[in-house]
Amino acid sequence: MKKYSHIVRHSGNLPLFDILDISVAGTLTGTPVHVHAEGLRGTGKTTIIRAFKEVLPKINRIRDCLYNCDPEKPHCPQHRNLTPQQVRLIGVEQIDMPFLEISHSAKKGTVVGSIDLQKISSKDNPEAALLLGTIPKAHRGIIFVDEINRIADTSPEIVDLLLDVMGTKPGRIQIEEAGFPVLEMPVQVSIWAASNPDEEPGPLEDVRRQLSDRFDFAVRVERPANPWIIKKIIGGDTPAHDNDVVSKKRMQFLEVQKTIHQFEPTEDIINILSSMYVDFGIESLRCIEACLLGIKIRSALLKQKPTTDDVVYISKFALRHRVNIKELNSILTNLEKRQSSKEEVTSKANPPIEQTCKAKNTSKGVKTLKDKNQNASTYNLESFKNIFQRLAENFKSSKSERTNRSTSNFHSENYNVKAPPKKAVPIDKLDLTEYVKTEEELI
Ligand SMILES: [Zn+2]
Repeated sequence: MKKYSHIVRHSGNLPLFDILDISVAGTLTGTPVHVHAEGLRGTGKTTIIRAFKEVLPKINRIRDCLYNCDPEKPHCPQHRNLTPQQVRLIGVEQIDMPFLEISHSAKKGTVVGSIDLQKISSKDNPEAALLLGTIPKAHRGIIFVDEINRIADTSPEIVDLLLDVMGTKPGRIQIEEAGFPVLEMPVQVSIWAASNPDEEPGPLEDVRRQLSDRFDFAVRVERPANPWIIKKIIGGDTPAHDNDVVSKKRMQFLEVQKTIHQFEPTEDIINILSSMYVDFGIESLRCIEACLLGIKIRSALLKQKPTTDDVVYISKFALRHRVNIKELNSILTNLEKRQSSKEEVTSKANPPIEQTCKAKNTSKGVKTLKDKNQNASTYNLESFKNIFQRLAENFKSSKSERTNRSTSNFHSENYNVKAPPKKAVPIDKLDLTEYVKTEEELI
């Protein structure tokens, strides 16, 4: 497995690092953050995800509890009714934050749990017991599902389990076995998934939209765009102090755990997001909830009060899998009506989205709180919508690239494409007399 500190960061994979940071910090503070990384083969998405195992912080649990009971909030059948004093008597231990995987060949029994055959068939001391599956064992940690689009296509049972785990925060699971009472438990697990939308059976939002929507964020991972980055990767350019990188990252997560309550999104941000939801007819309220959560955790990670810059950065990943081309078109039409003559002025006042994000990333620690507040006041709702329009155009072109990848020189943003006035029908359904004319008729 490649070490976390050895992975070369570039513009194509940096967003995944950012969003996984948010997810780890969220998991540690008790709120799962589900992330879907999409990218072509060779973009290193699974390598990055697995490398994060190295930087996951430690968590406290009741000693030897297989369900990873939080000593403050025990939830398992064995410990949930204990008093704090009884918990102290059992003791508390530190373990690595769980990181487990569900493969595409996984069965329901191994994912949720099943009867412990060894214990039940023991000759000396037969005992009815459950063998915990991947999900309850990963409580307060991460579960990684590679090739989620294939699982969505072939394993409806596993998809149903994931929907339950990701449906609410915390989620829940039911362990059912003949002869046992049904055991229902809360589970607090962040699901990380990866897929290649260009391989069968296609993008997750096309295979199982409901599951796709359960991901708070979808991140597109791209190949390196510069030859010097390839050179760096081939040359095995590695930092000298691996341990420093890992311990600093862990410290950053632990600090967020202490300070997160100081970074609630402002009223201004809530207004912008609420307006975005209503004005652009966004289907899922989860999108807005994901934005608010992401903004709060990202601000805590960067130790900067939340601003509208964070809205712009985070909403890219919260909308990516939730806005289709049709919805985007209606957003654009809506915006066209609102923009009118202000457009040129506001577009000069607001740099393109990529520059805005870059500025935020490169100015970490330099920007003062005063600057940030001034910046926040210069953004009004209208200018945000202008930025959002460009965001929407980005989505449109990336989705068009997916469907038009054989014609790589085609850039949809250069063409003013209009939808056909009528719904397309198969050629055999056409009324030919209407379309086939004789030469005389044409004259
Ligand atoms: Zn327990």
